[in-house]
Amino acid sequence: ALKAGIVGLPNVGKSTLFNAITQAGAEMANYPFCTIDPNVGVVEVPDERLVKLTEIVIPKSVVPTAFEFVDIAGLVKGASKGEGLGNKFLAHIREVDAIVHVVRCFEDENITHVSGGINPVSDIETINLELVLADIESVEKRIERSRKNIKGGDKKYAAEVECLERVKEALYNDQPARSVELSADEKLLIRDLHLLTMKPMLYAANVSEDEVATADDNPYVQKVREFAAAEGAEVVPISAKVESEIAELEGEDKAMFLEELGLQESGLNRLIKAAYRLLGLYTYFTAGVQEVRAWTIVEGTKAPQAAGVIHTDFERGFIRAEVVAYQDLVNAGSMNGAKEKGQVRLEGKEYVVKDGDVMHFRFNV
Ligand code: GDP
Repeated sequence: ALKAGIVGLPNVGKSTLFNAITQAGAEMANYPFCTIDPNVGVVEVPDERLVKLTEIVIPKSVVPTAFEFVDIAGLVKGASKGEGLGNKFLAHIREVDAIVHVVRCFEDENITHVSGGINPVSDIETINLELVLADIESVEKRIERSRKNIKGGDKKYAAEVECLERVKEALYNDQPARSVELSADEKLLIRDLHLLTMKPMLYAANVSEDEVATADDNPYVQKVREFAAAEGAEVVPISAKVESEIAELEGEDKAMFLEELGLQESGLNRLIKAAYRLLGLYTYFTAGVQEVRAWTIVEGTKAPQAAGVIHTDFERGFIRAEVVAYQDLVNAGSMNGAKEKGQVRLEGKEYVVKDGDVMHFRFNV
């Protein structure tokens, strides 16, 4: 499953948020791949389309797709120089696909702020600087090594050095590596560096419990939005404290609590959806009488690889797929109805799966 790492300065609400996440995902027996790592929380990806599909197919069970959050506590000023447990935490960030950066936008005299006052933008800059510094180190090491290879007569490293020089310049200007325009080939050249600032990032603005419904009026949140807009990043206002209370409720109790708070849906759901978008993830469905299920793929995945998400045998023995778009199936009201309208297509190996496709795979065992 794809992973988002939660980072932020101490005392901003990371653990509170992470506990809400693990609480929300505590009862998920459907995901055998789930690790028992205490720093990993698995959540279901909320998707209204599953409800509709269930009404049409009436299956025995419904399984949403899942998403992992990793708690990367302990990132502090000086981490890139090995302060705190610095390098160890940076290594954990290398392994995630996206970063959720929690910033403190709540006031509470009883909870000290590591640098004195509440200033989310300066907090963001502190953390981002550590990531930039760590990347500068990786990039410079690689440039040096590749230059040696070029001197040794191996000219193929020239393109890599040229591209890394551009990345280095951006980093020295405090800009993340993801802000540098790189071609697909160039991205591939430097992919194995796993640069921290290359990973997509979104900001979770942690507001106090009495501001959940009016978070956008909070001046700290507005500052975070301004900062994020400049780098094209998304901001999700959330109250970690409230989320931990929501996570303990179920069904109607949960709905009532959300209504009392003046919320359409939990902040956690909004965060999951935002992280999903950030990663460019698509969902396709399988819909049989046994089970209706959502599966996650990366945008651009072809049919055999999409089948491989279910089982490697499905990919290896892939023959073709029967495909109907979610909306066509809903409009037709049944699989047979969609077939009669000619909306169920047969697609082959080169078919690029679309978000919302309902798929049935044919394969050789
Ligand atoms: P971490 O160090 O980033 O993991 O932060 P914690 O989750 O441990 O939170 C630090 C303190 O802030 C704890 O005492 C939390 O209860 C408190 N806290 C977290 N979110 C909120 C909030 O929205 N409002 C208030 N008043 N306190 C919060």
